[in-house]
Amino acid sequence: SQRQLAQAQKIDALGRLSGGIAHDFNNLLTVINASAEFLLHDMQGGQPLADDVRAIQDAGERAADLTRQLLAFSRNQVVQPRVVDVNEAVAGMDRMLSRLIGADILREVVPAPEAGPVLVDPTQLEQVLLNLALNARDAMPAGGTLRIRTLATELRPGEAEPGPDQPPPGRYAGVAITDSGHGMDGDTRQRIFEPFFTTKQSGKGTGLGLATVYGIVKQAGGYITVESEPGQGTSMTVLFPVTDAVDAPEPEPQGMDAAPDG
Ligand code: ADP
Repeated sequence: SQRQLAQAQKIDALGRLSGGIAHDFNNLLTVINASAEFLLHDMQGGQPLADDVRAIQDAGERAADLTRQLLAFSRNQVVQPRVVDVNEAVAGMDRMLSRLIGADILREVVPAPEAGPVLVDPTQLEQVLLNLALNARDAMPAGGTLRIRTLATELRPGEAEPGPDQPPPGRYAGVAITDSGHGMDGDTRQRIFEPFFTTKQSGKGTGLGLATVYGIVKQAGGYITVESEPGQGTSMTVLFPVTDAVDAPEPEPQGMDAAPDG
């Protein structure tokens, strides 16, 4: 739809803008943080002044975290699509996820053998799954169940809403990440892909996770579906076109900028 096109252009423009700002900002923060470190080193611990310097350091570190996320969001990454088996990709992330998700959340992995190979940059696919899993975790502060399911589906002609931003009919494979967390109301669901939209408390969310996910999935020719009800949990599904290629094609260096307009 028109709205989604405008959205994609907004994300693109914001990516460029925030990347430039984040880069310069990061350099300034390096000076601030290093100076605080020196200052603290030259002072006797326990003085009231030392507490102030530590407060500068803490805030400086948080600001540095934020600029790193901004840079990751906007980075002119070289995209290297490869033939990726979604089941292998999910299995490969198991250890990292078990560490990040914590013991209060039950993790279920349900592989669908028919989920075929897709063409996507493997690092970007990891970034997508990680963002979705971390959002699921954040939605279940008191614990719950995180289900990671691979799937294959066929999009038939006319099935997707018409519009410039819609996936073409064909076969898709991907991953559904379902949580039993607090879910979202309609207003939140409408806005989750907007850059900087977050409902998390300040310092906890940047609102860039799903904007990044959206950009990656769109660039790979895929699409995302969201199902969520307040109090009922959330299911986010990312789908990529199934490829017939057997071997990875020669990686053709392609920056974000090289993506065709529209
Ligand atoms: P952030 O995680 O920094 O807030 P995101 O772009 O990843 O940024 O997410 C934006 C918002 O979407 C979140 O703040 C939250 O309100 C909502 N959201 C995303 N995933 C979930 C989920 N699994 N359950 C409930 N709300 C979610």
